[in-house]
Amino acid sequence: MAAQLGREWTGIQQFPAATQTKLHELLGKLKEQNVSTLTILVMGKGGVGKSSIVNSIIGERVVPVSAFQSENPRPMMVSRTRLGFTLNLIDTPGLVEGGYVNDQALQIIKNFLLNKTIDVLLYVDRLDAYRVDNLDRQVVKAITDSFGKEIWRRGLVVLTHAQLSPPDGLMYDDFFFRRSEALLKVVRLGAKIKKQDIKNTPIPVVLVENSGRCNKNESDEKILPNGTAWIPNLVQTITDVVLSGGTGILVDKKLIEGPNPNDRGKLVIPFILAFQYFFVIKRIEKWIRDDIASESRPSWA
Ligand code: GDP
Ligand code: MG
Repeated sequence: MAAQLGREWTGIQQFPAATQTKLHELLGKLKEQNVSTLTILVMGKGGVGKSSIVNSIIGERVVPVSAFQSENPRPMMVSRTRLGFTLNLIDTPGLVEGGYVNDQALQIIKNFLLNKTIDVLLYVDRLDAYRVDNLDRQVVKAITDSFGKEIWRRGLVVLTHAQLSPPDGLMYDDFFFRRSEALLKVVRLGAKIKKQDIKNTPIPVVLVENSGRCNKNESDEKILPNGTAWIPNLVQTITDVVLSGGTGILVDKKLIEGPNPNDRGKLVIPFILAFQYFFVIKRIEKWIRDDIASESRPSWA
């Protein structure tokens, strides 16, 4: 992996000139705000297109892609530099096995991330899936339990297979809206984010089409059915998320070995109870005792 560190991001030169210009603009924008490194963690179920996204962004085939479940079981970090900017993309194996979240896979990912800071999470799924179920919620919960809910402030939902004809005669935008809403609800429930919080800082949903058969515009850029060039659009959204606040998640030993980061506040509960016992209840008892002791004979006695 060390050999990959600091490698020049030559894949960017394979992009059409229009895409290169936009990407350079965005990197410039990040550097202006003193962001010179971005570490992007890509997670989701198996076969949804995680590895393909990494290859699409880097512009090279750097991680293996497979239509079948012969996934690389280890996470992989690919690093590229461009104009003093470093991009780290971390591809991970799918989190689901035999209908359950694979805790061992999750632990391997966590160990791999030790001492790294996750700036952005790409939570990947397919646009052309019609249902969400409890398993999706479990995957979101597993990610949240591992890194804390704050990770979703740096999160994007990314939907692959964006070049599709919606079923049942639905309009594309309508279908996209419904699929996004269904997935965002799963994220909200799985991560236990309050409705109001998600209203204040919505999680963006971005479309991607990794296929070589993706339509292109007159500048030769890969486009979505609505004409948007998706690579610059994805990087733009990532940039917006990074610059809109929140901080990256440092994966330290405490996060890996400690209790569920979302339960941290709960650790103080025993102290609060002890405080109440000694300083409130005990004191009241004492007042009552003193009061009884000092009580003079009531007039009716
Ligand atoms: P991963 O298991 O999540 O890493 O998924 P992969 O990137 O290995 O992709 C699984 C399969 O889906 C491969 O056959 C890819 O070629 C295909 N694939 C991934 N993304 C897309 C996409 O956006 N559109 C289409 N048509 N196929 C995709
Ligand atoms: Mg993969």
